[in-house]
Amino acid sequence: MVPRERKVVARPLLQARRVVIKIGSALLVEQATGRLNRAWMETLASDIARLRARGQEVLLVSSGAIALGRRHLGLEPGKLKLDESQAAAAVGQIRLAHAWKEVLDQHDLTVAQILLTFGDTEERRRYLNGRNTLSTLLKLGAIPLINENDTVATAEIRYGDNDRLAARVAQMISADCLVLLSDVDGLYTADPTKDKSAVFIPEIRGITPEIEKMAGGASSSVGSGGMATKIAAAKIAIGAGCHMCVAIGHEMHPLKRIENGARCSWFYPATNPVTVRKQWIAGSLKPAGELHVDEGAAAALKRGKSLLPAGVTRVKGKFERGDALLVRDVEGNEIARGLSAYSSDEAAQLCGRKSNEIEGLLGFRGRDEMIHRDDLVVTVSE
Ligand code: GLU
Repeated sequence: MVPRERKVVARPLLQARRVVIKIGSALLVEQATGRLNRAWMETLASDIARLRARGQEVLLVSSGAIALGRRHLGLEPGKLKLDESQAAAAVGQIRLAHAWKEVLDQHDLTVAQILLTFGDTEERRRYLNGRNTLSTLLKLGAIPLINENDTVATAEIRYGDNDRLAARVAQMISADCLVLLSDVDGLYTADPTKDKSAVFIPEIRGITPEIEKMAGGASSSVGSGGMATKIAAAKIAIGAGCHMCVAIGHEMHPLKRIENGARCSWFYPATNPVTVRKQWIAGSLKPAGELHVDEGAAAALKRGKSLLPAGVTRVKGKFERGDALLVRDVEGNEIARGLSAYSSDEAAQLCGRKSNEIEGLLGFRGRDEMIHRDDLVVTVSE
């Protein structure tokens, strides 16, 4: 018998309308043989079928293409060169998708492959396009099976980890619950493999600077995500009003285990989610530049005001009007993200100046604000 309160903990998964499940490479691909762990996949497929029978929509973000393909191509262990990982992904992805199709076929579930690039989620037009396709597939009853398009991704412009990709997808389609099935059972105050005094944290409400500090680097030997990418994913997901859970996935029936109260860390969304457009701004993964602001401006932003040129002390990076920027306080901590009303050259001239000087400095009358409050999201929680 499962104690009642344990079920209550798993409520976000039991009650979600739309669930995104991210499956890490280390779970799918057996380390010793490099083969897919098919028996385990079958148990996950039957868990998914149960969610569907309850009327829940499911999307899968599955890693494993590179791990699978490299083995098949006989590539040496160790770090792959970019062209080798692109080749490995091409070989592995087709096998991965085929295996998912086979295990989901057994439950009469239709799987639809979607390969996304970084630009597909970071450029607004392409993002809206991707969202349409995903919504249509869900409406038609299919299960989208998503991965990064590693075959065309280059080192500079790729996710590289599916934790953040899964969170961006969850945000894209307004999912209520994101489950990261991983080889760790949740968040600890320190890396539990290195520090015996590390304490497990079952519930997280808001990503504070302390929480960010708890996340070390990647610890899995097969995939590329570590706790740091999971925290980055949590920021995106909870900012979008989506619950997120980090749970161990090795055991059979990993979703049923969570429902039955297995140990995992739950990240709870804010009670007042911001608009969908602001969520997209807050989740932008590659801001084009930075604005450093003084104490007065930092306090004003936290009260919901716009960022005026007078409060900006330094401009970093090369950007155009409309690009996403990071806003940092005097200590260099990120406090907000927003879309710039000026290019970096213009911003540099306006830095520290009054809004009524703009026309004289630039020769045209632009906006009074460097970042208008409609285009700005405070990203730090205190
Ligand atoms: N996209 C990669 C793959 O399928 C996995 C990225 C990750 O490990 O998160 O191999």
